[in-house]
Amino acid sequence: MDHFLYRDGQLFAEDVPLTEIAATVGTPAYVYSTATLTRHFTLFDEALSWGPHMVCYAMKAASNQAILKTLAELGAGMDVVSGGEYARAKAAGVAGDKIVFSGVGKTEFEIRQALEGGIRQFNVESEPELEAISKVATSLGVTAPVTIRVNPDVDAKTHAKIATGKSENKFGIPIAKARQAYADAAALPGIEVVGIDVHIGSQLTELAPFEAAYNKVAELTEALRADGHDIRRLDLGGGLGIPYTQSNEAPPLPTDYGALIQKTVGHLGCEVEIEPGRLIAGNAGILLSRVIYVKEGEGRNFLILDAAMNDLIRPAMYEAHHDIIPVIEPEPGHERVTYDIVGPVCESGDTFAKGREMPKLKAGDLVAFRSAGAYGAVMSSEYNTRPLVPEVLVKDDQHAVIRQRPTFDEIISRDTIPEWL
Ligand SMILES: *Cc1c(COP(=O)(O)O)cnc(C)c1O
Repeated sequence: MDHFLYRDGQLFAEDVPLTEIAATVGTPAYVYSTATLTRHFTLFDEALSWGPHMVCYAMKAASNQAILKTLAELGAGMDVVSGGEYARAKAAGVAGDKIVFSGVGKTEFEIRQALEGGIRQFNVESEPELEAISKVATSLGVTAPVTIRVNPDVDAKTHAKIATGKSENKFGIPIAKARQAYADAAALPGIEVVGIDVHIGSQLTELAPFEAAYNKVAELTEALRADGHDIRRLDLGGGLGIPYTQSNEAPPLPTDYGALIQKTVGHLGCEVEIEPGRLIAGNAGILLSRVIYVKEGEGRNFLILDAAMNDLIRPAMYEAHHDIIPVIEPEPGHERVTYDIVGPVCESGDTFAKGREMPKLKAGDLVAFRSAGAYGAVMSSEYNTRPLVPEVLVKDDQHAVIRQRPTFDEIISRDTIPEWL
């Protein structure tokens, strides 16, 4: 459920017509709904209300300061995967003790940054990382709270590029070696073990892989407690999928997911953390774009848009499907045409959809890519020197540009010319 609906014959973001945003901000542009962000965060928060918990938004999904602030004001913690994200979370007013730090390659610089600024826990992914954290913490004279991310060797049944919980993936410590890793951690100075972490992948559309992973975490909790570790916090990762089409079967709801967590680990009396990203931001954002040309090819019609793969890379990178709908609502009984929907970038990979049946469109018409709020703007680039796509946040009948489209001069002035030229 989201807040991008047709009203009076045109598509609105909450109470703002998208035609108005296109007229003032231009296209392409990302548009987010505060009401959808709020709703999705609240669903997770309520799904875990049976016990102590924290919803740490995986901010790599959409990390604009205004989005972070919106969620932080609702009580969200943050899951960060880089020093840059840590700085963004702090800048948005998130307290250090609500930030968890994930990722396989934390540098000593990033570890120091987090220890100095405050951190809820590091989710540690390897033995060398444990040693690095121990070293930095000792040098600062502090103790670093850690969980160890275990790799449960579970098939998340999702796209290979976003599956992270199989033994062949680079993530975490094999669950079979976890007891040794915890023993090593306990022996290191400057380290305090607080719990266990797991994250098996993204865009999961069934609960079964979560259930398998969380059962293994529950078993490990008992084993580690028997070994004398104070396991009091379980970080169960993110990954719950979203519907990318309005027709297909819907993935499980946060409520079902919360009930599964209660069933699998609720009896352990741990504080539960989850790290949802996509489900909070995905359907809270659309990419607004305009048709530049309709080109009739040999047996094919190309819809050439002003958005491109540099603005939304998911179709090129993950073969992802996005519903693309006209901003002006089609009349009942309208003519339909099959299009290849492409952007202007000089690569055949710059294709959003092939053979997509759509209402007939013409140059100048506006379209919206639905479900583009997560892994959209954050993965955009300036390839082909196309200005970084701007972002707009809507709240009720208000809207604000939350990231400006840079000018060509701003883009060019970021380069510097060496002396010898
Ligand atoms: C990407 C990621 C998430 C968020 O995944 P979603 O599918 O967006 O919910 C959570 N935790 C970790 C460690 C991640 O890498």
